[in-house]
Amino acid sequence: MAPILEVKGLKKEFKGFALKNISFTLERGYIMGFIGPNGAGKSTTIKLIMNLLKKDGGEIKVFGLDNIKHEKEIKNRIGFVFDENYFYEELTVAEMKRVIAPLYKNWDDGAFNRYLKEFSLPPDKKIKELSKGMKMKFSLAVALSHNAELLIMDEPTSGLDPIIRSELLDILTSVIQDENKGVFFSTHITSDLDKIADYITFINDGRIIFSCPKDDIFEKYALVRGPKEILNTSIRQHFIGIKENRFGFEGLVKDKHQLNKMFKDGIVIDKPSLDDIMLYFTRRVQNV
Ligand code: ADP
Ligand code: MG
Repeated sequence: MAPILEVKGLKKEFKGFALKNISFTLERGYIMGFIGPNGAGKSTTIKLIMNLLKKDGGEIKVFGLDNIKHEKEIKNRIGFVFDENYFYEELTVAEMKRVIAPLYKNWDDGAFNRYLKEFSLPPDKKIKELSKGMKMKFSLAVALSHNAELLIMDEPTSGLDPIIRSELLDILTSVIQDENKGVFFSTHITSDLDKIADYITFINDGRIIFSCPKDDIFEKYALVRGPKEILNTSIRQHFIGIKENRFGFEGLVKDKHQLNKMFKDGIVIDKPSLDDIMLYFTRRVQNV
């Protein structure tokens, strides 16, 4: 079966920023986290997938279909959440739902009402009166109420309190229990992904650094600490980045299986968090 989402050689140029040859693939049945610092190109990539921006090159397929030629069908089958608000501010939650529902073939009013209750969203409040977290919950309720096969979300956890965030993560996990579905979501809160993501795609400055199963990342990279004296030029080349202070160094090594060749002893090895990995990759330039 065709992958649920396939991006190949995607290009987009803005003045002062470019997405360069973005490629990654998400198969059905999995959650992919899309991570990268602010300004890395996450929202731009997502807008291109949703055909809200015009690409300069490359190919995007959703459910095996070209995202522009089959835009209407695809959007019916996607639940999407953006980091910006795309609703009419003057309408109430219930009125906005009446505008949105007819746009979807498989709208499920029962599911929507359940989410309103679960998220404590008052139907008669105007969108503009909702807090950022409540607007996010409203977007989520809409995205989850039309039997979407693929959820695409831009920073869905930002602005949510920890309890709702954890509820959302549970909901996403339950969505993919049905092995036919997929979830693609961007975030800079990487701790969300430690729990639920199967794949991580990491973008920095418009380039994909890696896109792979989460477990492969921890199989490959390691965080190392030790005294500065044991670092030399050839050892330094094995690191993505090194931080030094007067007590010693800490660094991220590219291939932890090389460690026993590099050091005899005197080092402490740890599993890096996704945050560590993101930080070392994005600070890399300062360390050369
Ligand atoms: P992220 O979502 O990862 O924080 P974005 O995709 O929003 O990053 O932005 C990536 C870069 O592209 C930023 O430098 C941003 O200023 C720039 N950018 C985004 N949208 C536009 C636009 N419509 N016109 C010009 N530059 C843009
Ligand atoms: Mg963004």
